[in-house]
Amino acid sequence: MKTDRLKKEFTEFFGAGREPEIYRAPGRVNLIGEHTDYNDGLVLPIAIDLSTYGLFRLTNEDKIRVYSENLDKFEEIELANLSRRKGNWTDYVRGVLSSLESRSKTISGFDLYLSSEIPVGSGLSSSAALEVVTAVGAIKTMNLDEVEDLDLIKLCQKAENDFVGANTGIMDQYASYLGREGAGLLINTAEPSHKFVDLGLKGYELLVIDTTVSHTHDDNEYNRRRRDCERAVNAINESTAGKTLKSLSDIPSEELDDILPQLEESLANRTEHVVRENERVEKAAGFFQQGRIKEVGELFFASHDSLRDLYEVSSPELDYLIEFARAEGIPGARMTGGGFGGSTIHLVPESQMDEYLKKASRVFEEEFEITPDGFPVSPSDGAKFQN
Ligand code: ADP
Ligand code: MG
Repeated sequence: MKTDRLKKEFTEFFGAGREPEIYRAPGRVNLIGEHTDYNDGLVLPIAIDLSTYGLFRLTNEDKIRVYSENLDKFEEIELANLSRRKGNWTDYVRGVLSSLESRSKTISGFDLYLSSEIPVGSGLSSSAALEVVTAVGAIKTMNLDEVEDLDLIKLCQKAENDFVGANTGIMDQYASYLGREGAGLLINTAEPSHKFVDLGLKGYELLVIDTTVSHTHDDNEYNRRRRDCERAVNAINESTAGKTLKSLSDIPSEELDDILPQLEESLANRTEHVVRENERVEKAAGFFQQGRIKEVGELFFASHDSLRDLYEVSSPELDYLIEFARAEGIPGARMTGGGFGGSTIHLVPESQMDEYLKKASRVFEEEFEITPDGFPVSPSDGAKFQN
């Protein structure tokens, strides 16, 4: 069993002693609702069946010793310097622990062995999984005060925003912590609050195809889109007497026809994407629950087109895979994650899965001379529900 292998490796690395405690936090895929999370909008992610595992064992030392199997890197973090940024992967761990320290007073020394099944840096949120597994493991191992669900989620997001400096919304940590088997999480990021949506996937599977073309969230383009949205909100509030929008998601879709012509073209496009994408998320949640996968698929394609044409965050590799999906006649597919490379998600009939994935990989490789990484994912329990 995987956990036996990990325990053995833990002992080989850190030495014999008490058995480590094992915690797990999954990656996530966003089904629909892209670039809406930082606009106080709606998103519909699932936690996936790929996780980051953290093995924890308390020590009597004044430091945390942490090893990442994926990076084959080891570091020591002095307890006295928990809140000092290092500018590398340990900042995710440091960020979470220093927030916990300010809530719970004392953090003791421990050894931490990290091993992830989530491909790192491909949009499946290995970063949130790392934060969440660190938080959950640290709280349980050290017996720290219980943290409310939303506080834990926010604390992990804060590590990523303030410590690592990646200006991301709350969706990733939410899904990794609170995901549920068989369900999507319909999150209203403005509150934030969530509802579980039964995905009714009968006969269909979700396939992720990672283009393996890498993207990073501190990419200027990502921050530029965020600024575009703020500029659009300001422009609308200035030009319309009495308007006090807080975010683009406050715009009712029936007002778009009046509002869009007042904005410069790129801002009008960003605005239209956000408002319509929120509508698509709401509709998709309803269709999923009714098992109307064909209709969900049409919304996936529409979401992709909007991200390509209005939000301008797609890439030739992503577009290629979505055109492939259309040509193959599956219900729907779209880019997922921030864009500029990264992954796509496809709704594929179970009976076609093997053939579809093989063909997609072959034609993609012929076109780009890059081997994509494709794997079916299923909606899984988040870290809170691990047994
Ligand atoms: P994504 O979250 O889509 O995988 P990010 O760029 O947000 O991509 O996060 C990836 C970063 O998170 C890595 O560069 C690394 O610093 C850190 N990270 C994630 N998982 C691990 C891990 N298992 N071990 C060490 N660092 C990790
Ligand atoms: Mg990330």
